[in-house]
Amino acid sequence: MDELARARMAHVLHHRKAGLSLGEPVVPVISVATTFHLPEAQGAAYYYGRSGQPTWDAVEAQLAILEAAEVVAFPSGMAAISAALIACLRAGARVMIPSDGYYVTRLLGRDLLAVYGVEVVEVPTLEMAAADFTGFDVIYIETPSNPGLDVIDIAAISVRAHAAGALVIADNTTMTPLLQRPLDLGADLVVAADTKAPAGHSDALFGHVAGRDANLMARIREGRRQSGSVPGPFEAYLVHRGIETLELRLARMCETAAVIAERLAAHQAVKRLRYPGLSGDASYAIAQKQMLNGGFLIGFELASEAEAEAFLSACPLIEQATSFGGVHTAAERRARWGDSVSPGFIRLSVGIEPCEVLWSAIAAALPGGNC
Ligand SMILES: *Cc1c(COP(=O)(O)O)cnc(C)c1O
Repeated sequence: MDELARARMAHVLHHRKAGLSLGEPVVPVISVATTFHLPEAQGAAYYYGRSGQPTWDAVEAQLAILEAAEVVAFPSGMAAISAALIACLRAGARVMIPSDGYYVTRLLGRDLLAVYGVEVVEVPTLEMAAADFTGFDVIYIETPSNPGLDVIDIAAISVRAHAAGALVIADNTTMTPLLQRPLDLGADLVVAADTKAPAGHSDALFGHVAGRDANLMARIREGRRQSGSVPGPFEAYLVHRGIETLELRLARMCETAAVIAERLAAHQAVKRLRYPGLSGDASYAIAQKQMLNGGFLIGFELASEAEAEAFLSACPLIEQATSFGGVHTAAERRARWGDSVSPGFIRLSVGIEPCEVLWSAIAAALPGGNC
């Protein structure tokens, strides 16, 4: 993390102070109200729970500091992605999305957007760097891509997309605003699943859209009111609480991931490993330019499906679960979801366990270990 990210994090922890009156709670309330005292419509901050409410506002305020942008919160990452795409597209529009990104985004393109007359073109993340953007309305990127961890130059893509008259939407889930700032690099909108590292405890679905174009963000906010795609107050509170420790958790997770990536890469049972923070990784050069560290995700291959499954079952400090970014180290074979990776490919999400304890458990469970 750099100076700016650290300053923003400190601000997140104390930003409520200036607005607190005598005796007010330091943490935000979980407001369950759907209706608000409203003798006159004029000037009320809140009037109906689908339009806006205090607990969402508390999370949006935190995320707005981290993104240095306006933020609209959603009940999941996919809700945020849908809202951003719908706000930028119309019948006849063309959008380019990564063929190797989060698979539900591709399904959204195929099953939902296509039905409404949007042309969705899928291109591998690495090929987007040289793809022709002529005639596209939106270039949608995900970097590092999930699960392959390929990285694309956000600034270069944004320059080319804007020259072609297209908007850039960046899925920043794998990095969070503390580790990568797509809006500063030229992206028009950031979308993210706060279900992952920001919530961080595998107990809340949440998402957000961030952007600096007031008109576009107003459309997205109004779209939330009209579609009714609204977060719950309890989830908003959990995410608010999660964000307060995000920097601390990320620091441990990423530091441990860097150590474990290096050791896994040197292990005789590991066929191929991807970690953008490792010098020698195909993503390293661009990662150095735009990511503040290598992140907490590692992709690596064991020889076969059987070897990978045996490793995952044998290691007591790896939760066998999908999703990532939580406090518990978790991993899975991505081929089971149909991702185009080899059967022995494992995506490892490094948690907050002490590094050497975690490494000992991983080393013992690997083929040739003493498990
Ligand atoms: C998990 C994920 C999403 C979807 O988030 P949900 O909260 O599960 O809807 C979107 N993009 C990426 C990169 C993800 O990892």
